[in-house]
Amino acid sequence: MRKLQLLLLCLLIAPLSILGQEEDPVIAGIIKEANENSQLEPLAHELMDLIGPRLVGTPQMYAAHEWAVAKYGSWGIIAENQQFGTWRGWERGITHIDMVHPRVQSLRGTQLAWNPSTSKEGVTAELVVLPMVKDSLEFAKWLPSVKGKLVMISMNQPTGRPDYNWEEFATEKSFEKMKEARDEQTRMWRENFENMGYNSRTLPKALEDAGAVGIVTSNWSRGFGVNKIFGARTKAIPTVDLELEDYGMLYRMVASGKKPQLNIVALSKELGEMPTFNTIGEIRGTELPNEYVILSAHFDSWDGGTGATDNGTGTLVMMEAMRLLKKFYPNPKRTILVGHWGSEEQGLNGSRAFVEDNPKVVEGTQALFNQDNGTGRVVRISGGGFLNSYDYLSRWLAAVPKEITDEIETTFPGSPARGGSDYASFQAMGAPAFSLSSLNWSYWNYTWHTNRDTYDKIVFDDVRNNAILTAILAYMASEDPERTSREKAVLPLNPRTGEPREWPTPRSPNRRGGME
Ligand SMILES: [Zn+2]
Repeated sequence: MRKLQLLLLCLLIAPLSILGQEEDPVIAGIIKEANENSQLEPLAHELMDLIGPRLVGTPQMYAAHEWAVAKYGSWGIIAENQQFGTWRGWERGITHIDMVHPRVQSLRGTQLAWNPSTSKEGVTAELVVLPMVKDSLEFAKWLPSVKGKLVMISMNQPTGRPDYNWEEFATEKSFEKMKEARDEQTRMWRENFENMGYNSRTLPKALEDAGAVGIVTSNWSRGFGVNKIFGARTKAIPTVDLELEDYGMLYRMVASGKKPQLNIVALSKELGEMPTFNTIGEIRGTELPNEYVILSAHFDSWDGGTGATDNGTGTLVMMEAMRLLKKFYPNPKRTILVGHWGSEEQGLNGSRAFVEDNPKVVEGTQALFNQDNGTGRVVRISGGGFLNSYDYLSRWLAAVPKEITDEIETTFPGSPARGGSDYASFQAMGAPAFSLSSLNWSYWNYTWHTNRDTYDKIVFDDVRNNAILTAILAYMASEDPERTSREKAVLPLNPRTGEPREWPTPRSPNRRGGME
């Protein structure tokens, strides 16, 4: 009997709730506009192609903040740039890396971020590689020989083919053989660094102090033609990264005694201490203006590519969602904020500063939705360790089209993040913040912090779905009759200590970076 009643109840409720969603003019409007008048492509073109990469402290980062405020203004959304600190100002110029001996060939590579500029003529010198040494004494004896030389400090990879390519075409035996040899080579390479008494962070400075005239790296990202590009650690000499193919060729030439020479032109400008910002946009709440639904995505990027998927796509999702909300839900119950955080890549600095500077907003946060792991459609949402998150998140998700939620796996109550992206800054303060986690699309190897993180990698259909998802979640969170519960779940045991894990604690941002 009870089963029958339940069944009848389900039959009664189901069509009503489906009807309810379809007829909700806000949700219907959001979906129609997102599909028929998407602004994602022009926004992506302007941000990635025209403004370019958004390294903290660069004029491009500043231009992006200005662009976002103007764009929000054109949609009738109030936005502003809030300064939270400063960073070493630097502007990337031209990089040209040419082999000039034993033959001439232009090479594929680039200077690392914050690289000290060469002269216009650049540096021309012979390449050397690191010796295999027994101990730091032997290395110290070798060190003076780098005077006047360019030093290659990355391991020479045995193959430029990614493992998935070997898996597809190699015999099993030969794939195993390659992997074993590479593991052994990697082990010896690490051991040699220990013997030298340096690591990859401290070595460039030691080589510079010993009179080297440049550092050459190859930070392969295990995909065809793809390298990760981070910051230089030299003060006056250039540090450039070469793609695996060119790096390997030069390495073999050094090994066979051909004494290859490069000419490196790596121009840049030092701009002194520059302000760092968050761009904050707002659609003011009408009933509960001191409660907040926050859309969140970091705005900065590394600068080997144009930061298209880290985090151009997260940025596009939040901008497009704000546009949709302003158009179909201009008078929200709670205040809807968007945070485009600065300097996430150097340690969540923008969002950590925001939570530090805006305790009332953190206190009034109904929910925060962050997206920051690539272009893919959202496939995972975790309750972030909030005990009752299932109640409200599933209520909100029920209003999202099934074709979008069918792709999403939820975990409740989940655990809070200990870093990784900006929602962690809010979770550490106990605010219900959630990560909209994307399908991989080869993110870790091909686009994350690489020279291939560019417009062509954006999958607009997935980004469009994410904008619809985010806008509807924000709408539902804003309209919810109830304030969200912040009750924390008892976290799982830490296998090392046998004690329950502790909730992460807030950390202060770096408000003056790169100026030492
Ligand atoms: Zn990111």
